[in-house]
Amino acid sequence: MDHVLLARYPFLKASAEFADSNDADIESLIVSPSYAEARKRGMQRVLDAIEHHKVSEVSLTSDYACLMEVLSYPYARILVSSVDDRFLTRRYALAEATRMYDLLKGDPAQSVPVSKELEVRSSIDGSSRISMPFADYLRYSCLLKAAEWKLINTELKDGNVLMERDRFGRVLQTALQERIESELPLKVPDGIRKAVRQDVDRVTLRLGEMKNRLSPTGGEGMNPEYLPPCIRAILANAQNGVNLPHSARFALVTFLHALGTDYDGIIALFSQSPDFDEAKSRYQIKHIIGELSGTDGYTPPECSTMKTNGLCFEPDGICNGERMNHPLTYYRRRSGTARKAP
Ligand code: SF4
Repeated sequence: MDHVLLARYPFLKASAEFADSNDADIESLIVSPSYAEARKRGMQRVLDAIEHHKVSEVSLTSDYACLMEVLSYPYARILVSSVDDRFLTRRYALAEATRMYDLLKGDPAQSVPVSKELEVRSSIDGSSRISMPFADYLRYSCLLKAAEWKLINTELKDGNVLMERDRFGRVLQTALQERIESELPLKVPDGIRKAVRQDVDRVTLRLGEMKNRLSPTGGEGMNPEYLPPCIRAILANAQNGVNLPHSARFALVTFLHALGTDYDGIIALFSQSPDFDEAKSRYQIKHIIGELSGTDGYTPPECSTMKTNGLCFEPDGICNGERMNHPLTYYRRRSGTARKAP
């Protein structure tokens, strides 16, 4: 296979074989000066994921450049595994998958070998479109929010969904993201962990900065000082690992979302809980904020509903003020008062 293709799609088995054929093993990747370029690029892959949601492109003008690009992929995975932060893993998986999708848009012929690698069953129909079993389609499309991905909006023939290659590339993006998320973290031996510690520290630092930007406690968006007592109490419980009832989780997620906090920001808040398991929360949160349905999601409950659900904790003077009927009103009132203060 063309070395440029192996470098562009470094998750292929053939890419690993290319590295093997150049006697590039993990130990030398970690320490050898010959692979400093690969380590630098591996670090870049992870930082790109943190800061740009997508791994950037590099020029692949020589076999050497292709080899470095192939090797940068396992190095990036070692870094992500060593940090072992679910939020980073997810973000990295998305960044690699988004890059692959962009590459496939310019080179749709590669969608067939890539789909084989990702074990996404598909074939090419008589009109050069992609055909895939509808059950497989459902598995991946349920993670895509726009209405166009609903089965009702697809062309079905003999139990298969037919689609253009560009659209299929989006399915493959989801499959690769899922694959990487399921593979990481890798078990990183102590010796390797020690050797990459400097790079891991750098990643951890950037990750912390990014989480702060996303988090209401450190970013420029929502200010936690203005949270109403009910939401403050629920958030504190969530961050202390208390198992929230559905009504409390619903109130918290809808409230944060209404103030502009996206899925990543919500996850960043929940992930401060010591036993947070993103896999368990992902579907529920995405459903509540409308990412699965392509809508704006649910609106936060008003005070009367909060009271009915036993979630109105320690209402204060603002809560007891005139025309105060919604936690969002509380937030706007407090933040508005603060802005007017000299
Ligand atoms: S009155 Fe409303 S805003 Fe205040 S604590 Fe109760 S539910 Fe929250």
